[in-house]
Amino acid sequence: MTIAFLTVFATALANANPNIVIIFCDDLGYGDLGCYGSPTIRTPHLDQMADEGLRFTDFYVGASVCTPSRAALLTGRYPIRNGMCSNGRRVLFPESKGGLPDAEITIAEGLRDVGYATMHVGKWHLGIHEGSRPTDQGFDHSFGIPYSNDMDPREGIKHREHAGSQAPPGDGWNIPLIRDNRIVERPADQATLTKRYTEESVKFIRSQAKAENPFFLYLAHTMPHVPLFASPEFHGKSRAGRYGDTVEEIDWSTGQILNTLSELGIAEKTLVFFTSDNGPWLVMNDEGGSAGPLREGKASTWEGGMRVPAIAWWPGTIQPARTPIVANAMDLFTTSLKLGGAEPPSDRVIDGRDLTGLLEGESLPPRTPFFYYHGRELFACRLGPWKVHFQTRPSFGGKPGTTKHDPPLLFHLPRDPSEKRLRPLEGVGEKALAEIEEAVAKHRQTLRPGEPQLE
Ligand code: MG
Repeated sequence: MTIAFLTVFATALANANPNIVIIFCDDLGYGDLGCYGSPTIRTPHLDQMADEGLRFTDFYVGASVCTPSRAALLTGRYPIRNGMCSNGRRVLFPESKGGLPDAEITIAEGLRDVGYATMHVGKWHLGIHEGSRPTDQGFDHSFGIPYSNDMDPREGIKHREHAGSQAPPGDGWNIPLIRDNRIVERPADQATLTKRYTEESVKFIRSQAKAENPFFLYLAHTMPHVPLFASPEFHGKSRAGRYGDTVEEIDWSTGQILNTLSELGIAEKTLVFFTSDNGPWLVMNDEGGSAGPLREGKASTWEGGMRVPAIAWWPGTIQPARTPIVANAMDLFTTSLKLGGAEPPSDRVIDGRDLTGLLEGESLPPRTPFFYYHGRELFACRLGPWKVHFQTRPSFGGKPGTTKHDPPLLFHLPRDPSEKRLRPLEGVGEKALAEIEEAVAKHRQTLRPGEPQLE
């Protein structure tokens, strides 16, 4: 046997059934981490994670708001396919009757089937009824809140006045904290959520390391979604106000998780992926984040709504680098299942691609179109450097209403990430538009919209 063969064999063995940790923030913008250019928010642990890992410059989420974005991540499918998006109610509310259909297969279900221990910590927002809850969707255990932290307001609590304020009342929202379908605290003490999520995650990692069992941890932070709360150790410490305080606490939390993995000697057997569910909630002003150079934010299909920070870390396997590859959260479904030794389901369309070659530095994924949906409607498409908008809408809080574009708007994203300079639809522009229109037509042929869950 050659040394090269032995090396490949040894790498394959080392990479069999790695632990997988996905850290998913809420409303964290593209420009809110030090390593993504924030001038004021200090994120030393995430900056180090980025220095040691793979930092994506062009990573997208499957939707520009919470519920559909989470559905896309966990199922590897555009939310239109499973009904987890709507043109009316954009997300699930406490009184909603729907949720992630039981028939959907999540990362947790795929990995549990091949022997992984699975745990959800943090915000869920994929349904509170039987069939849709974390423990119905592949998680052995769950600890967190069922929907957004600004839902379930107490009497007299107003959204902009209180949730988006610099001094939100601690008991303003009657959010339950739930462990395995049992309410353990109500209202949840939001100031200590990030800290408690971290302790819960570390405890789970320690117990699984001891059991020598592969594990999947889905840590979905409640912050920095308004109302903003941080632990006493972080409250009032950031130069960027309450918003910065919560992001700096999430940075601390990520450091705790990476340090625990290193201390236990399992860092080289663990893929950690850090990202956000959608862009910043710009109308919240100081209490909302920043999309950096990108246009618009949460609830918009302009780049600021759907392009988010993303860092993959796996010492010994991932080489430190920055990648301009266009990837998205749905890819984490396919990649996680492949790494775990599970085959993605073949009885349904899966939109996520396998990124294992990219992570292991062997090959790049093929150029694939990315579709930007607003609710149930396709608004834009990116293919390679080109993005075409067929319709646009500003972020939440902007002038309401959809603008249809005929002819469509064309932008060259690497040269113009802020989408400010319209390209002419002639020459290369004409060719780019034709290719994108063909990709959209092909995509539409695969669509069988799921039964609406959010109405
Ligand atoms: Mg969100």
